[in-house]
Amino acid sequence: MAYSNELYQQVILDHNRKPRNFRKIEEPTHVCPGHNPLCGDHITVYIHTEGDVVSDVSFEGSGCAISKASASMMTESVKGKTLAEVKKMFEEFHGMLMGELDVDQDQHKLGKLSLFQGVKQYSSRVKCAALSWHALVGALDLKTEISTE
Ligand code: ZN
Repeated sequence: MAYSNELYQQVILDHNRKPRNFRKIEEPTHVCPGHNPLCGDHITVYIHTEGDVVSDVSFEGSGCAISKASASMMTESVKGKTLAEVKKMFEEFHGMLMGELDVDQDQHKLGKLSLFQGVKQYSSRVKCAALSWHALVGALDLKTEISTE
């Protein structure tokens, strides 16, 4: 999918208005609250794994449009993936935000997550987009909470 600012705006608005998997998992195998003090975003990520597969993933919380939309798209992207695939996707997403991965030139499996490439120009927004991913990986690493600071 080619990047366009208009498409990015549409997707962010859509996921902010109708966040996917915005609920609690009653008996999660992993859970981790994440906080981005820079913006005031609070996102808790719930995961249910079966073997090494993320069989269900969800989030709750409040935050800016970018943090919510990113969390919503993160849940859609990692559901059904293996833990190894999820960690690889986190590395690629984080690399893109840090400007280390060029989504047009480098190989990656980010799919529509590459829409977030424009965020790297706005350093204060990078943590908003990355928050739910840090909470996801934090949960898998059995952390009790994470902060982007
Ligand atoms: Zn934010």
